Amino acid sequence: MKKHNFSAGPCILPSSVLKQASNAVINFDNLDLSLLEISHRSSSFVSVMEHAKELALEHLGLQNKGYKALFLQGGASMEFLMVAYNFLENKAGYTNTGTWSDKAIKEAKLFGDVVELASSKHANFNYIPKDYTVPSGLDFFHCTSNNTIFGTQMNEFPQTDCPLICDMSSDIFSRKLDFEKFDLIYAGAQKNMGPAGTTLVVVKEDVLGQVSRKIPSMLDYKVHISKDSMFNTPAVFPVYVSMLTLSWLKEQGGISAIEILNNQKAELLYTEIDRNPLFKGFVANKEDRSKMNATFSLLDDSHTDVFDGLWQQAGINGLNGHRSVGGYRASMYNALSIESVKVLVDAMQNLENKV
Ligand SMILES: *Cc1c(COP(=O)(O)O)cnc(C)c1O
Repeated sequence: MKKHNFSAGPCILPSSVLKQASNAVINFDNLDLSLLEISHRSSSFVSVMEHAKELALEHLGLQNKGYKALFLQGGASMEFLMVAYNFLENKAGYTNTGTWSDKAIKEAKLFGDVVELASSKHANFNYIPKDYTVPSGLDFFHCTSNNTIFGTQMNEFPQTDCPLICDMSSDIFSRKLDFEKFDLIYAGAQKNMGPAGTTLVVVKEDVLGQVSRKIPSMLDYKVHISKDSMFNTPAVFPVYVSMLTLSWLKEQGGISAIEILNNQKAELLYTEIDRNPLFKGFVANKEDRSKMNATFSLLDDSHTDVFDGLWQQAGINGLNGHRSVGGYRASMYNALSIESVKVLVDAMQNLENKV
């Protein structure tokens, strides 16, 4: 039986998607060829790429609104520098809400002035700062919607008179937002969409082309738009699997339907974390708790071995917290069923009954 996979990333994918993907590796589109050995310019693959882009825009409600979807390489980490390369002329504003924001800021500083408008670094990123405003006249404002490592999530996004850019790697397609508010959204595939190796970028075309520096072709969003994400050989397998996951999401009823399930899963687990006297949550304010990554720990470390034995015997995988937080992290991405969360809650209750 498949494990209950709470891995933070690369993460769980729907089993129907994994089956279709493995079939395509052997015989894709009845071509009697593998997906991995055909030209990315073949009509079969071009239609995969087009369909993946269409589905991404459709899920976000951004079709026919001046946005383009791109499937790029280099991970979300490449976007840390591409964003700055394409947008930073003088000064940009960032909020520092976790390890990934911190890394994005570090890269942006190579290209211009960066103001940290708010930071929760002093508290090991255990909350989302809200007492700041974005000044006018910045080249762009950058934030991270969900902090995968610390388990915090933004619910409000500030008003800006500059492009609003967001790293949504670990909560894209998990909840409804007013996506039109954003000018550029990026997400590494491996948190909620597909295998590692491709990054989705959704960008409003008219915000591009404002910087004076020369941009190398591979780092230029306009080049990738003009070549339909085929400037160079795209990551065919990750794009294909992402397309399958986005189709699966559509069959589930799209973001609004999956959000209801995601809320139920998060509610179930956080209720147990709060109720069970042996556990405590990591995040300071309940309103900042991530519905994708729940971080928690035992109050008494001496229960660690027993608890680890219990969840491992229950068939759970990927529950250890990131080394910078410790404890446990349960990642509840779209493809994780509520039954898996129930198994985890049972393991927590079994511990309580044992000690
Ligand atoms: C994982 C992650 C990244 C880094 O993604 P890579 O694809 O490994 O570069 C960036 N931002 C967030 C929010 C993440 O969760």
